Amino acid sequence: MFAERPVDRMSAMDCLQISEWGGDLERAERARPDPGEGEVLIDVDATSVGLTVANVIEGDLGDDPADLPRIPGHEIVGRVADAGSGVTGLEEGDLVAAYFYLSCGRCDACLRGADSLCANLDGFVSVDVDGGFAEYAALPARNAIEIPDTLNPVGATVIPDAIATSYHVMNQRADVDPGGEVLILGAGGGVGIHLVQMAQLFGASVTAVDRTRSKLECCRELGAERVVNTATDSLEDALETIGTTYDAVVDFTGATDLLEVAHSSLAARGRLVNLTTFPGRSIDLSPREQVFGETAVVGSRYCSKYELRRSATLVANGDIEPIVTETASLSEVPQLLDRIRAGDVIGRGAVVL
Ligand SMILES: [Zn+2]
Repeated sequence: MFAERPVDRMSAMDCLQISEWGGDLERAERARPDPGEGEVLIDVDATSVGLTVANVIEGDLGDDPADLPRIPGHEIVGRVADAGSGVTGLEEGDLVAAYFYLSCGRCDACLRGADSLCANLDGFVSVDVDGGFAEYAALPARNAIEIPDTLNPVGATVIPDAIATSYHVMNQRADVDPGGEVLILGAGGGVGIHLVQMAQLFGASVTAVDRTRSKLECCRELGAERVVNTATDSLEDALETIGTTYDAVVDFTGATDLLEVAHSSLAARGRLVNLTTFPGRSIDLSPREQVFGETAVVGSRYCSKYELRRSATLVANGDIEPIVTETASLSEVPQLLDRIRAGDVIGRGAVVL
């Protein structure tokens, strides 16, 4: 139930915003958003701070000047505080996490549970509507996914992207049987570090590849069977020494030299799963090799809403540990983001509101 007349609806709120794509985060005071038809107002508890946020600020997912000023932050966790007309199924006080893509819910892709492949995609939370670096955020109600009430909101910030993206990889794209081998390129990143855990939950052994020793140590602690540091060792030599083949290679680097080496380490019917791409960058693969091994190269894009909810259940059950190693106040976010850009933060950071 929502109160007839929400108290202080027009009062101000603290936030961080950008006034130009690629510009700096600025502290600002804005009017608390008024949820429109089909929208909910979320009283934000915490929002993650990671590399995707940095990329969004750069304009990688959209750079329309008409969308400015914009409040970044897409991995939002908070409680429903109010709703516009036509919202059903959510109550005041429900703990929710934001689904990143503004999908329509009606097209064939959405109906088959592939929300991230929506044919009528309306953009992204924190790009086309304001995100969670603010005390409150108004989102379409269909983007507010209820998660277990017992979850710690700070840890839960990595559920809607980092953990759910990993879930989608293992649930839909990697096709690895229990007992399989998974090679993760960029395993120490915000998504990769959770895939290290998710792959094991799906019954696979993990080889983690990264360029930072502390991140690889974290991968080890989280159960990675083997680690390869490409800052000091060549991937080709390391894989030859390891001497195994992989049922799936999952890439978060977009580094073509690594991809070509890793592709040749695929087992029969192995899959190369791409998540990180750069415009104009492509790799040279031999169709002959693919035929002889029946290997496949597939893409993996974000997750479905169902997978987001399942990911929340896994965290609530203690099966996946959210790796949020730093927290910040709104005013500390710019410095935290600089350290994330420099690769100095393991897992994700979070701003606590
Ligand atoms: Zn759709």
